[in-house]
Amino acid sequence: MASFISNLRIVALIITLAFTAGCTSTTQRGAVGVERKQLLIVSSQEAERGAATFYAQEKDKYAKAGALNVNPRQTGRVRAIALGLIEQATVFRPDTRHWKWEVNIITSKEINAYCAAGGKMAIYTGLLDGLKLTDNEIAAVMGHEIAHALREHTREAMSQALAEQVGLNILSSALKLDQSSASLLGNAAQIGLTLPFSREKEREADRIGLELMARAGYDPRDAVSVWRKMMSTGGSPPELLSTHPDPTNRINDIEAHLPSVLPLYENARRQKAAH
Ligand SMILES: [Zn+2]
Repeated sequence: MASFISNLRIVALIITLAFTAGCTSTTQRGAVGVERKQLLIVSSQEAERGAATFYAQEKDKYAKAGALNVNPRQTGRVRAIALGLIEQATVFRPDTRHWKWEVNIITSKEINAYCAAGGKMAIYTGLLDGLKLTDNEIAAVMGHEIAHALREHTREAMSQALAEQVGLNILSSALKLDQSSASLLGNAAQIGLTLPFSREKEREADRIGLELMARAGYDPRDAVSVWRKMMSTGGSPPELLSTHPDPTNRINDIEAHLPSVLPLYENARRQKAAH
């Protein structure tokens, strides 16, 4: 009984540590005001290592299939838009200046795009050509994906999974159940990478993405049209939408944040015109 109580003390200590040392926000609040505190007990390096391995494998796979950056004009267009957004990412995170950003186009019918931890981006032709995206719409999708990386949503999901597993493990040893702890981090990484982002995280990505595109001089009102286009594809919902159960709420939320980013867009446009 005494050891059970001391184990409980240890649990309490670990939880306190996790919340004081690990709870912070990865980004500055910006005009859209995203400032939710995050549980981050897995290191950035850990999350980035996982992303880098995954990204290298994906690039290799599609390159071998002749499906990587097939159309140089399209690659150039998408990379130019990405560059504009990346320049604005420092508003939320000055350290992104040192990120090793990458943008690659994958020839695939899939309607998909992502930005993995540390700035490793992919955008699929099923999205670009299939939905005939305009520059503004490409900026909206990429801004959203970049925002996930700035907020380190994957690292956060890994941390949440790890916290749960550590909790379970300590509980099971307190109850004298013999369970190995060697694979805790591995399990957490697996869970963090495979679970879809929560609605809250999607909303944050929408808001920050909106500000990134506005600051880069892309009309943020077109963020609405791209999600509408995706919703109208029919059949099974595209992956980008499937994690978000209520598209109408999403559009309402985007529209509610337009007033705070439209002045940034007007300002960016004026500056472009002056050059
Ligand atoms: Zn998302």
